[in-house]
Amino acid sequence: MIRFDQVSKRYAAGQEALSQLSFHIAPGEMVFVTGHSGAGKSTLLKLLALIERPTRGTVTLDGQNLGTVGVRGIPRLRRKLGMVFQDHRLLLDRSVFANVELPLVIAGVPPEERARRVRAALDKVGLLAYEKQPPALLSTGEQQRVGIARAIVAKPALLIADEPTGNLDPQLSLEIMQLFADFQQVGTTVVIASHDLMLIKRMKKRVIVLDHGRLIADLAAEEVA
Ligand code: ADP
Ligand code: ADP
Repeated sequence: MIRFDQVSKRYAAGQEALSQLSFHIAPGEMVFVTGHSGAGKSTLLKLLALIERPTRGTVTLDGQNLGTVGVRGIPRLRRKLGMVFQDHRLLLDRSVFANVELPLVIAGVPPEERARRVRAALDKVGLLAYEKQPPALLSTGEQQRVGIARAIVAKPALLIADEPTGNLDPQLSLEIMQLFADFQQVGTTVVIASHDLMLIKRMKKRVIVLDHGRLIADLAAEEVA
């Protein structure tokens, strides 16, 4: 599903954020990317979403070399993936329904089909009863669930999340991670950047460890204890 081949990234100002990174993630895997602040976790995710481009090396997503995707190809590429952010990035003045519907509107899905899929997504995250509310009235954990519903509403093959539990307490964090594991159960590939080692250990999934942009460990789920 994902292949990084000798990928390096240097931002215009600064040292290398990623150095000769190589790894492979199979379809349906759930993988944590961890490491200290500045290790390169966000940069890795940004290369997958074509928010940034590598300085050297090749990123392949679903058989496609991302280096061959031009600006006009980015929207189609992004439809393959759902993104979840730490700060959820919801439109606070629109309803929960409208927030989750947005990717489908952009993709040109007809209204009836949109309504069906939005309700299915809200049902999966346990928020069907809140569809008419503005997200501002929801708790932080509920807002993050809306962000997850928006990320999965278009049924992406890949779900990526950057510190999705960064603002949540341990119990809510565990519930959110369990939700990601549920999506893995139904076949979605899931990649989550997180520095929460306690939480990562509890999930017992593969863990890629970055340090100053280098891959220093790649632990299989069975090795995580
Ligand atoms: P993490 O997500 O692990 O905290 P990042 O990928 O955000 O790490 O950052 C990796 C390194 O790249 C850090 O040294 C950071 O300061 C630098 N960096 C990230 N984004 C930019 C940018 N837009 N411009 C310059 N340097 C950046
Ligand atoms: P995250 O928590 O996702 O790692 P940061 O708080 O490190 O993000 O960075 C927030 C934003 O600032 C990101 O878009 C990142 O690319 C950018 N950024 C991070 N480090 C630098 C830097 N040294 N110079 C310029 N931009 C940076």
